[in-house]
Amino acid sequence: MKQLILATNNQNKLREISQILAPFGISVRSQSEAGIHLEVEETGTTFAENAELKARAIFERSGLPVLADDSGLQVDALGGAPGIYSHRYAGEDATDAQRCEKLLSDLEGVAEENRTARFVCAMCYIDGAGIAHHFLGTVEGAIGFAPEGENGFGYDPVFRYQNISFAALSAEEKNAVSHRANALKQVQTYFAQEGENYADK
Ligand code: IMP
Repeated sequence: MKQLILATNNQNKLREISQILAPFGISVRSQSEAGIHLEVEETGTTFAENAELKARAIFERSGLPVLADDSGLQVDALGGAPGIYSHRYAGEDATDAQRCEKLLSDLEGVAEENRTARFVCAMCYIDGAGIAHHFLGTVEGAIGFAPEGENGFGYDPVFRYQNISFAALSAEEKNAVSHRANALKQVQTYFAQEGENYADK
């Protein structure tokens, strides 16, 4: 099985990315599973820049092909916020529940038809030669009025896809339509087309 390092220690991302790529014979391990203990500062101004910063830092340490994900939520009524600041939106140490709460409170009084939003996922793959390849996936939806559902992570309980909370979907259902899945489909197509010789470890 082909193996990539995923430039994250976020177990939720690792789980989703592993589930989506496994059927294609690609397995991922986190940077800490690869023995790399590093917190990369996200100083970029776009999802793609931040994804490349994370991938590059791990590639420089390992010399092995790396995949990084930078993702977040864009809410139209908030001018695209929280965007690249999705993780820090309610403070560095906030919980997922606190992030969702802050979002709902910032949208207080906003009517249903103006609550449109999307999840965005930028993937950066750095190949064995150190060349960066970028992919972008999105999923359109809307912000609900209260958290719903027990699955998923992050803003899933307040994000409604075709009127159903992302957190009410099973992992398989979310992984069939999510921003991360859409970006990973492009990554997988790239691997298939280019016949990439990513590390066989
Ligand atoms: P980062 O990519 O590590 O900067 O973090 C992105 C943040 O966006 C996460 O901490 C979540 O709060 C949010 N996010 C990204 N993807 C998802 C998702 O699939 N569901 C819910 N929230 C997400």
